[in-house]
Amino acid sequence: MREKGYRRHVDSVWVKVRLGIVLGVAACGVVGASLILSVHQPIVRAVGDLFVIAVVTLFLNVYIWYNRDRGQSRKTRSRITRDADAHEYAKDLGLFAAHPAILETLPPLETLGTPESSSRTTVETIAASFDMQLELIRQALDLTSVVVLLPDPEGHNLRLRSLATVREDISPGPYPVGSGIAGALLRAGDEIAVAPVTHDFAGLPYYRTNGGVGSLLALRLPDEYPPESGGSEKKISGILCVDRTLESEWSGPERMFLRLAARKLSLDATMGRRLHHMDRERRTIQRVCIGLRELNRGLGLEQAFDAAIAAIRALVETDFVAISLVNGGNHRIERVEGVYAERLSGREFPVEEGLVGQVIKFKRPLPAGGVYRDSAPIFSAKERFSEFESLLVTPLLNEEGEALGALSVASRQPGVFPRHREDILSLIAAQVAIKINLAQAHEQIHRMATTDGLTNLTNRRALRHGFDIMIHRATRRSGPLCFILSDIDHFKNVNDTYGHPFGDQVLKSVAATLANAVRKVDLVARYGGEEFAVVLEDSDERGGREMAERIRCAVEDLKLKHGKEEVRITMSLGVAAFPKDGEEKSILMSHADQALYHAKNSGRNRIAIWSELGE
Ligand code: GH3
Ligand code: MG
Ligand code: MG
Repeated sequence: MREKGYRRHVDSVWVKVRLGIVLGVAACGVVGASLILSVHQPIVRAVGDLFVIAVVTLFLNVYIWYNRDRGQSRKTRSRITRDADAHEYAKDLGLFAAHPAILETLPPLETLGTPESSSRTTVETIAASFDMQLELIRQALDLTSVVVLLPDPEGHNLRLRSLATVREDISPGPYPVGSGIAGALLRAGDEIAVAPVTHDFAGLPYYRTNGGVGSLLALRLPDEYPPESGGSEKKISGILCVDRTLESEWSGPERMFLRLAARKLSLDATMGRRLHHMDRERRTIQRVCIGLRELNRGLGLEQAFDAAIAAIRALVETDFVAISLVNGGNHRIERVEGVYAERLSGREFPVEEGLVGQVIKFKRPLPAGGVYRDSAPIFSAKERFSEFESLLVTPLLNEEGEALGALSVASRQPGVFPRHREDILSLIAAQVAIKINLAQAHEQIHRMATTDGLTNLTNRRALRHGFDIMIHRATRRSGPLCFILSDIDHFKNVNDTYGHPFGDQVLKSVAATLANAVRKVDLVARYGGEEFAVVLEDSDERGGREMAERIRCAVEDLKLKHGKEEVRITMSLGVAAFPKDGEEKSILMSHADQALYHAKNSGRNRIAIWSELGE
């Protein structure tokens, strides 16, 4: 791979150089020929000189450029070689085999533990390796104990990190940093040796009883690599402490051996820290992948909300998740899970209020550091959440950078949103925003395709589809269904007398009247210009008659205003019942149409039942 890459680079350099030489030689040829042809003409000679200068300049440029490029090639080559060596070495250590591609090994969500539990095996491996090395040192130098002491995060105490010993009276600690051999080492520098040790020496804090120590040596563990982040400059190092019954001085080779051991242990600690860190990063990436996978499952707005919540839950352990969307001058809680969910679901708050409002306004996550303080208002001043310790409200920004809403995640635990979690939540929020945007567009398209623009009723095409489904359901449970077709009487006159815009207002009022008259389970549609259809779920002919009559009365009672003038309209309706009058949609529609025709012909502002037409 690296050979090929390098060769391609060198080849391209040579192609360019050769091209330069060919061009130069060709230009020289042309100039030479013209000079020979016009050797006695001074103007032509001057032009020729200029050409020669140009050609020489060109050659010089090519030469400089080639040399510079050769230098770069050398650097590239040494970098490629170095990378390849590191790669080979890592392969020899089996590091690649141990970490298969993340996407190929995505575990199911349920099997994912907390990041802490997941990295336990790494920690255990490092601890075992540490113990093993201490035992090796102990046996090699015939020591009583070999101990590694590490400071706690606050730097107040030392903890017994690892131990190899033949003694049993070990005190597990923690031990105050400034006391005993640790304190002496802190004052002395990097190394302290005591030989012989006084009989009642009490400076080794990890022994419960004094005595039994002939000589001791303590070394500061060198900081091979500073911690990746968060480490304060004036850090207390770990300590390697060894003792033995022998009272003789520590020899030069012994000291050298222990210094090397201290360096090796320090390197291992660094490596362990890095492995732990990598392990956590890997888990985080897995969680993000799972979150994104959840997010891509559905298409509608409701699915987008569900997926967003699932994605968040895959990432962080939370007690509360809410998705708010901007709705005019308000933000509305569209979906909420966890504590207070019932109380908050569907609530709207002014954009001026709460942290959510601030986040929407300033398009930045809040509060700083994800720390929830003083029961600050999240949605509004009236809603307080004293039990949360961590909170992060992240804006949901669309691709144009406008805030669609905000994502609020809270926990009773402190420190849930460190910087890397905030970054990941922002990443998820960006995906959620895209998803919500898409879902909104999808629903709008769906609405436009199925809804009549003027009246907001179901349109004719969607009516056919809905009617089919209702017939199918009625057939399955052997229940009745009723179809009503209605038409406004002399509507042309309304348009002619009061104008088309007023006619539109009338259509809207009639549509609203119909929609109010029926139940939620029924279907009302604009069938054509001033014709409306109703499908009554689980209603027989009697129910259909009652509903048709109710609609007729309601339309008759409508008091429409054109300026100061009151305008009255009426409607005629035809009714056909399923399965009595027909079992197919087209037959029922045709029968209802015949009944409507009859109602019109017998004087309008009336209803007609198809089964009674012949009587
Ligand atoms: P009938 O009692 O026999 O039903 O008489 P009609 O005048 O209502 O019947 P006709 O079918 O002759 O007229 C229907 C009118 O409805 C004609 C058309 O201009 C009007 N119309 C159809 N769609 C719309 C609309 O969207 N807005 C308005 N303002 N008028 C419409
Ligand atoms: Mg009509
Ligand atoms: Mg009409």
